[in-house]
Amino acid sequence: MAAVTVVDHALVQHKLGLMREKGTPMALFRQLLREVSALLCYEVTRDLPMQEIAVETPVARTVVRRLAGKKLVLAPILRAGAGLLEGMLDIVPQARVAHIGLYRDPETLEALEYYFKAPPNLDQRLVIVVDPMLATAHTAVAAVDRLKARGASNLRMLCLVAAPEGVAHFAEHHPDVPVWTAALDERLNDHGYIVPGLGDAGDRLFGT
Ligand code: URA
Repeated sequence: MAAVTVVDHALVQHKLGLMREKGTPMALFRQLLREVSALLCYEVTRDLPMQEIAVETPVARTVVRRLAGKKLVLAPILRAGAGLLEGMLDIVPQARVAHIGLYRDPETLEALEYYFKAPPNLDQRLVIVVDPMLATAHTAVAAVDRLKARGASNLRMLCLVAAPEGVAHFAEHHPDVPVWTAALDERLNDHGYIVPGLGDAGDRLFGT
């Protein structure tokens, strides 16, 4: 079973609470998602490997710690994942971005790829897959399948709200990929929506 970290930070919970309300207007929802994704990014990157480097301050020589290794990759699953991207880039501006476009075939229910563009050397980078709602987790599983097929082996999954069913399905397929979420909700309903959730994240984000 993959590890699941629920980010219980007061600011994260406050902002998520505002986002859950159905009356929250689109622009505010978008702004809150940007803010909360920066805070979640702070948590998901908490233990990144560091290296020590000698520098000179205006006063003395000292040793500082900097992020080690190749630039990490943020991998939003289109389209709702795009809503988390700007907030994450606000605090990790050097991150590379892999866009992953998947849609579900209405007949076979298979996740089909319509777009995939990733930076090189995925095998040498931490890849953080980003999608606000981990509901059935079918698209998250398919996204990680594709990233692994292109060489990624160090992956993390970041979402805003997860359903227990989605966490279990994801862990079954990718037990090596830990999950960070702001909330682990009660369940999925018959339409695959998270309860209580916040509705369709893409619609609320883009006004569709
Ligand atoms: N996708 C959403 O946007 N919301 C849900 O509740 C489930 C999937």
